[in-house]
Amino acid sequence: MLVSEVMLQQTQTSRVIEPWTRFLEAFPTPTACAEAPLSDVLRLWSGLGYHRRAKALHDAAKMIRDEFDGAVPSEVADLRRLPGIGEYSANAVGSFAFGRAVAVVDTNVGRVLARALANRTLSVSDARVEANELLPRTNAASFNQALLDLGAQFCSSAPRCALCPVARACKWNREGGPDPAPRSAGVSRAQPKFHGSNREARGRVIAALRERPRSMQHLSACVAMDADRGDALIAGLVADGLVERRGRLVHLSGE
Ligand code: SF4
Repeated sequence: MLVSEVMLQQTQTSRVIEPWTRFLEAFPTPTACAEAPLSDVLRLWSGLGYHRRAKALHDAAKMIRDEFDGAVPSEVADLRRLPGIGEYSANAVGSFAFGRAVAVVDTNVGRVLARALANRTLSVSDARVEANELLPRTNAASFNQALLDLGAQFCSSAPRCALCPVARACKWNREGGPDPAPRSAGVSRAQPKFHGSNREARGRVIAALRERPRSMQHLSACVAMDADRGDALIAGLVADGLVERRGRLVHLSGE
């Protein structure tokens, strides 16, 4: 659950299934992940992008090994201490893996709450308050899952109100008015263009280094950058702890 939640941050479910499967085959326990070099984790991250998440997950595995006897903590406050785990991910793991009675508010749930419950724009804190008030005393995980599914299956950015199971109770459907979802909490904004971005270039460098260590010249050519911009890009990856410069070559960290 923890691995899937980290992989699902900013990546679609369909792209996560295969890397998630191979990741758990390679690292069936947090300790197995903690004891592998970061370079192995980065190799298994192929296809997911946003490589800082891989480093954070590796650091989280080390914290779980060192501070929680190798078992993923079940308390939401402890989950929040893990690198790369924000409020949404901590609540999702707490709810779905450990049955904790906490609301899980993501993009889908943010849309449902703003439209069906409030018919107004909800700030992040408003949405959390509304979601927590709705949460039943028992079966909170099923309730969270139902809200997530409602948002994904029916209450998408182009809502399918005619088929929606809560249409009769939905405030926006009954009252009308402008769609309150787009500016509400948890509703994602359009992502910046990937093609030609720094994120694309970083991904290409990591992909080249998955094969073997490379020279700076090779990496700059890989991302079609002049030496200065290539240097700056690699310096960013070094600062993030993802790659290391040793002599003339750049390696994945820990390799
Ligand atoms: S009726 Fe429409 S707007 Fe309301 S919850 Fe269902 S899909 Fe969303």
